[in-house]
Amino acid sequence: TSAFQAQDLAPPDVQFDVTRRFLADNDDNKINLGQGTYRDENGRPWVLPSVKMAKASLDEFNHEYLPILGFQPFRDEASRLLYKGTRALNEDTIASCQSLSGSGALLLVTLALKKLQSAPDTIYITDPTWVNHHLMFSIIGYKVEILPCYRDGAFDFDAYTASLRQAKAGSPVVLHTCAHNPTGCDPTKEQWKLIGSIIKENKLFPIFDSAYLGFNSGSFDEDAWPIRYFMEVLSVELAVCLSMAKSMGLYGERIGLVSFATLARESSQIAESVLQSVQRSTITAPPAYGARVATAVLSTPSIREQWQKDLVTMSSRIRLMRKRAYEELVRLQTPGDWSCIINQTGMFAFLGISKTQIKHLERKHHIFMVETSRLSIAGLNEHNVRRFAEALDETVR
Ligand code: PMP
Repeated sequence: TSAFQAQDLAPPDVQFDVTRRFLADNDDNKINLGQGTYRDENGRPWVLPSVKMAKASLDEFNHEYLPILGFQPFRDEASRLLYKGTRALNEDTIASCQSLSGSGALLLVTLALKKLQSAPDTIYITDPTWVNHHLMFSIIGYKVEILPCYRDGAFDFDAYTASLRQAKAGSPVVLHTCAHNPTGCDPTKEQWKLIGSIIKENKLFPIFDSAYLGFNSGSFDEDAWPIRYFMEVLSVELAVCLSMAKSMGLYGERIGLVSFATLARESSQIAESVLQSVQRSTITAPPAYGARVATAVLSTPSIREQWQKDLVTMSSRIRLMRKRAYEELVRLQTPGDWSCIINQTGMFAFLGISKTQIKHLERKHHIFMVETSRLSIAGLNEHNVRRFAEALDETVR
């Protein structure tokens, strides 16, 4: 007998399963709009020129373990990047730890909060959100509560803030810093200010899930604005989960940073010791290669300058593809209002079409997207955008 005999098969991951079906499809014109990874104008994975320069600049290195908290130069560079111009950076009240990309950062931050005396039992996420929020926080043992954030192609500020006001004091609330996944609908700066004041008033603990900084607008600082506003104007403690997957195209290297911006040196020392302890109890120490590459990008002025150009290249190509897809749908007079495609921001568009229509796109047109109707704009290019629009047009008529 086997220990697994009485067990059902665990369901496949909905997002990775789209890629599996895409790879199994033999059609020459298939289009993958499921996977949230950047693609160049020919639909291929893109190694950023800055990352190529950084890799070439690396000296010979050995393969010893990194310390539990990660590669110190990476932690320093990433913290300076993230918290540029803030008091916390000057006053050294930031705790940081290298993580397994953004996912690992979320894991460490939520495990760390659970270790505190005030251990929260509930965590608040948006509805809809990135599928891993539900999966990860529930496996850690949180009660996961949802805050509605989307209606008719836009951010639903009223519904969101009404639910946020009801949230239990002391609980963490996960905020998408920019490029909300999956809706592409972010609060305006004015709305962020109100969200921040509710969070402060209700003593909630903000966790900024930051997987798209710089990738969204092309400017890291612009995309990091909500974090710095919360710190500098509201003076609240917070956590940031930074991923270098999209911002540097280092998806598979699993490089990220988890940090707590606290209000006192003593708090940051405690926070860092807790991070160290949860890192040790889960993965011991993080991987080294991505940390070396990201550090070379950030610490070498000429490479960093190139990286800033790379962020503009990626974000502008995505914006252009939004415009092109929209133009094609207008040209075809496709029934419905598709302006959401140009109004939404970041990697994804959220179309609001039905599951049946999504299946039809896949079966008839070999166009693959996630069943929530999220599509990755980065999968579009000049060679396939017209075909995509025509297929969507045929599907919704
Ligand atoms: N949070 C959100 C909202 C995301 O969309 C992603 C990337 N899909 C992540 C976190 C982290 O991804 P990774 O672990 O690849 O950095």
